[in-house]
Amino acid sequence: MSASDDCLFCAIAAGQIPSETVYEDETTYAFKDINPKAKVHVLIIPRKHYANVAELAKDDPAQLVHMVAVAQGIADKAFHGEFRLEFNTGHDAGQSVFHVHAHVLTGEVLSE
Ligand code: IMP
Repeated sequence: MSASDDCLFCAIAAGQIPSETVYEDETTYAFKDINPKAKVHVLIIPRKHYANVAELAKDDPAQLVHMVAVAQGIADKAFHGEFRLEFNTGHDAGQSVFHVHAHVLTGEVLSE
């Protein structure tokens, strides 16, 4: 883990850049994606900086488990508990922000 001064999601988690909060606690922050790909599209991040989900899983698996529980809670409220959870990992897999984030897509029936 190496926190980065110029990390967009570190700044969002710290409240230095505005975002639409969906859920927050001591370790975890969830906010609406600025470019939603579903009726409900939320990003869940750990407040601590990890570059991607593989780094997070290795260094703090409990945090990853907690993020899945947060996703479930969002989907329970938005869409009878059903959701898609995505972690783009690496540039060539579509990752554009290198602070691990779970995409939670829900709120409607999702196509492939
Ligand atoms: P990635 O491509 O998997 O890394 O996902 C990055 C996500 O962050 C994209 O879905 C963007 O729409 C989203 N995003 C980028 N900047 C912001 C922001 O300032 N607020 C909320 N979402 C953002």
